[in-house]
Amino acid sequence: MAKKLKWARVWADIEDYLVPYVHLDPHERALYHNLLRHSRVQNKRRICVSRKGLAQSACLSVTCVLSRLRSLARKGCLRVVNRDYHGHVLEVLTPNEIAGCVPNAAKTPERDLEAADCFRNRELRQAIYRREEGRCFYCQRRLSSRIMTLDHVVPLAQGGDHSYRNVVACCSDCNAMKWQHKAEDFLRLLLHKGRLGQRLLERRCAVLKALQKGLCRPNLHKPARLEAARALELGGRRACA
Ligand SMILES: [Zn+2]
Repeated sequence: MAKKLKWARVWADIEDYLVPYVHLDPHERALYHNLLRHSRVQNKRRICVSRKGLAQSACLSVTCVLSRLRSLARKGCLRVVNRDYHGHVLEVLTPNEIAGCVPNAAKTPERDLEAADCFRNRELRQAIYRREEGRCFYCQRRLSSRIMTLDHVVPLAQGGDHSYRNVVACCSDCNAMKWQHKAEDFLRLLLHKGRLGQRLLERRCAVLKALQKGLCRPNLHKPARLEAARALELGGRRACA
């Protein structure tokens, strides 16, 4: 018996991974959602569609439908099983079924992001680095592999954990200086030392609040243009609480 799909997960994977991964344009997106709705949501692996019917139900022109069906097939979102007088027989794939679309770390329930350990998980460490856009979370200095560390915003000794809400990438200087300071106090210390301006301090404090509310989730999918970041293996071993 086919495994029942968890639709909340599927929809999150579409927005978090599929759209940025294969660069779906708005027409491809509308068509993909429409096809998914009439196939997989109804527990049908395959669907037979006519060009006109599909154009009507997706509010697109027939020409647009044909070109987007081709591009969706090229991008691996669907397979054209048959094409004849009656229309297309299509097999629509969910993001999890498209090779390389959803990262392994996001597939396994026990690796759920809220519970995941950013220090032990290599993909997560890299995702934290990308989330910080390659800069120190505190002083905004550009990070290189030589000076990059991970830091607990709330130190472990004060009840902090290893989750993405409490782990940031920062430079080794900030890591050493922060020690047991609260993150906000440390940002003010950087202002006092002239390493942050007032405006930047306010922005960093806002990001800090967003981080702790869980609004700064790291994206586990590695964009091709950031392949270079792979070389910057964040050294969990070098990080301290
Ligand atoms: Zn720094």
